[in-house]
Amino acid sequence: MFSFRRGAACCAPTIVSPLMLHAILERLRRPLDIEERTDCANTSVIGGLDRWMIGEIERALELIHNGEITIEAEFRFGRLNTIWNRYATDEIGERHASLHETARLLDELQTLANDEPRRGEASPRPVAASPQANIEYSNHAPTQAFEENESQSESDSKTQDPKPKTQAAPCALDSDITYLKGIGPKRAQTLAKLGLRTVYDLLYHFPARYEDRRVVRPIGSLEAGEKDSVCATVLAEAQTRRIAMGRGGQRQLTRVRVGDASGRMDLQWWNQPFREKQFTVGMQLFIYGKVTEFGGILQMDSPEFEIMGEDDGLQVGRIVPVYPMTEGLYQSAIRRAISGALDRCADAVEDPIPSSTREALNLPDLPWCLRQIHFPDDVNDEKERARLRLVFEELFLLQVALQQKKIAAHTEEIGIRHVVPDEEIKAFLATLPFKLTGAQKRVMNEIRKDLKSPRPMNRLLHGDVGSGKTIVAAYALWTAFATGYQGALLAPTQILAEQHYTTLKRVLEPLGVEVVLLEGSLRAAQKRRVQADIAEGRAHVVIGTHAIIQEAIEFHKLSVCVVDEQHRFGVMQRAALAQKGANGLRPDVLVMTATPIPRTMALTIYGDLDVSVLDELPPGRQPIKTVKIKPQSRERAYKYVLAEVKKGRQAYVVCPLVEESEKLAQLKAATALAEELRATFLHDLRVGLIHGQMDVSERDEQMDLFREGMRDVLVSTTVIEVGVDVPNATIMLIEDAERFGLSQLHQLRGRVGRGTHASMCVLVGDPKTDEGRARLQVMTKTQDGFEIAEHDLHLRGPGEFYGTRQSGMPDFRLANIIRDVDIIQQARDAALEIVLADPHLEWQEHRVLKDALRRFWGDKLSLVQVS
Ligand code: ADP
Ligand code: MG
Repeated sequence: MFSFRRGAACCAPTIVSPLMLHAILERLRRPLDIEERTDCANTSVIGGLDRWMIGEIERALELIHNGEITIEAEFRFGRLNTIWNRYATDEIGERHASLHETARLLDELQTLANDEPRRGEASPRPVAASPQANIEYSNHAPTQAFEENESQSESDSKTQDPKPKTQAAPCALDSDITYLKGIGPKRAQTLAKLGLRTVYDLLYHFPARYEDRRVVRPIGSLEAGEKDSVCATVLAEAQTRRIAMGRGGQRQLTRVRVGDASGRMDLQWWNQPFREKQFTVGMQLFIYGKVTEFGGILQMDSPEFEIMGEDDGLQVGRIVPVYPMTEGLYQSAIRRAISGALDRCADAVEDPIPSSTREALNLPDLPWCLRQIHFPDDVNDEKERARLRLVFEELFLLQVALQQKKIAAHTEEIGIRHVVPDEEIKAFLATLPFKLTGAQKRVMNEIRKDLKSPRPMNRLLHGDVGSGKTIVAAYALWTAFATGYQGALLAPTQILAEQHYTTLKRVLEPLGVEVVLLEGSLRAAQKRRVQADIAEGRAHVVIGTHAIIQEAIEFHKLSVCVVDEQHRFGVMQRAALAQKGANGLRPDVLVMTATPIPRTMALTIYGDLDVSVLDELPPGRQPIKTVKIKPQSRERAYKYVLAEVKKGRQAYVVCPLVEESEKLAQLKAATALAEELRATFLHDLRVGLIHGQMDVSERDEQMDLFREGMRDVLVSTTVIEVGVDVPNATIMLIEDAERFGLSQLHQLRGRVGRGTHASMCVLVGDPKTDEGRARLQVMTKTQDGFEIAEHDLHLRGPGEFYGTRQSGMPDFRLANIIRDVDIIQQARDAALEIVLADPHLEWQEHRVLKDALRRFWGDKLSLVQVS
């Protein structure tokens, strides 16, 4: 039992060497943090923290005994002694209180020490303590436990000054990361590979997931296979052995034995002999890793660890962030870098969201959110609140730019006026072979207004397969001709371009419009002639693939451009188109999408466009019955085909999907299937064949034969996917249907059900995956393209579905375009309000927002904002 003694001169308030007392206090303080974080399990030191503390207090008093001590100091050591004698039997709540009391007493002792007149050359907070006081800590490696790839000088600068915050210069988000403590040129280079160059990059580099390492387990309770946190003491020097690996190779295994009151285990590393020098006997570690067992001994392979009281407490004993893609960089290094950025800069970050919006939506404080998203206090609530706030920010920055673009397009008179007298329009409509649907009339009227206005049209027409978009396109293109300009139609595939060419020629040529098709397969001389016709204005409507905008095609006076797209034509491409207008003006652009786009997408990728919807099918359409059958029942499926043909109808048979790059395989598969069918199930019928490797002329010939009813069945690859229009075809059979994507199946199915006869779609397949089964299931359940698109988005995920690379969108770091649909809407409303009030963000209070936009969009911003 401890009994305190007074120094020789009890009445003179002098003290033991302050240098020494500082070292003692420092040492006593070290385990407190970890004990707190491990919920006062009394395990933060091997053998129990209480026993260690009592031992240390006694040792301290031994030292003090040899010097002199004040009554105040004596009293406090006495309190500490009482506290720690009770600790083991205290309740957890009392233990927490005891820890705080201990910390407070140590603080007071510290103050006492500082206030005393010093003897010798004392510095107020020495790093190296006297030899006796610091015996176990005298020779271990500095804090850079995980970063052997870092230069020594950087390590040093880091350990010497753990609290740099106070004197630092103010932080700017655009500052280079080397400005942060502990990041030298070498580390900066590694971080740059992850695209992390500025403080902003670090703060907005969000974790991919988290690991809850708050619960620290006694070694005795560990089980192989689990990932756990442990608090343990180094029991013996680390040792490295060479282990033969066969064929003369060998690896080095470094092992260090650690233990706590409940048991022992080995930590080990392969081929990292430098580890040997990191540990000294008695050192206390906080360890996290996967537990294994070998020969009855528990082990952890390459665990993460921290040296207690020395490292920064980022890796263990808390909820720890795990960052995406850290090749060549340790998680611990990136955590440290981000934590450094947070410490230094988070409070200085100005919120890009204007305060009015923040208040209206009750958004939490940005610095708080940044801290919570990286180092959350809690797994759920707080982190989620922070995430939502940051998602909102991301979508808000997206929407501000899109709304700016949209408003500019609505207000700036940089487009072409297409004024056509009403009688002329009526006359045009009268030449059409059918009566327009209500939806077609409504949409044409919307387009008429756009075309008439001096502001460039930027309209998205979205309508399901077969809803009659082509005639709407024809109207827009005709308007260009009728006002003395040129129109262009861009299709996603060559075969669809050909199809549009045929249809538009039929509709427009009688009205005196010269329609030309730009084909890749044209011979050089022909091509030159067509290009000259376009450049000199003899061609009025030009049809081709999207390649038109890349190629150096010169238009005479382009004023209307229709894009028939398959999710392939994004912001970037539209921006490129804007450069091709007559007299330096911007052409009117109509983007048609055959697959209806989900709402989230309409709000994001197409957020800058006005939208028209064809929500009505031409009259007399019959629902397409869709069934799925197993390959074993193919014969039955082909019997349907036979039966339909007997009734005078026609059928498509779609070949199994082959990689587009494997052209030869594609050709073989299609030919083989046609031959098989001619020889077996369909031997009485006239079976045609069409595929992507055919000459255009041969393909046209086959298509014409089918269209004119000279072929009963058309075996085809996906070249018929879009646009092909033969109303007498009523049956579509798709082989290996599970290999196709949903939107592709929907498009293919859209080739039937175009006339007045009942139609049928047979999906032959044996899906091996849940996703494959889900796709076929959706197809049999619904024919609504909108619903199918939503399913597709969910099954494939936004990355795949949007083809983000081509869309010209910035990368979303946090936002999930499926899950966060409500936030998209909120962000859009908020953005619109701001942009309406201050379109160019010139107000002082929007300065931070303007900077944030530039950072978020990078060099894509100029393309989006082109006007
Ligand atoms: P999509 O929207 O899929 O491009 P299309 O423009 O190819 O559809 O039209 C599908 C079919 O419907 C074509 O055969 C077309 O001639 C026909 N069609 C379009 N509009 C009407 C209408 N108002 N009345 C009758 N048939 C129409
Ligand atoms: Mg079409």
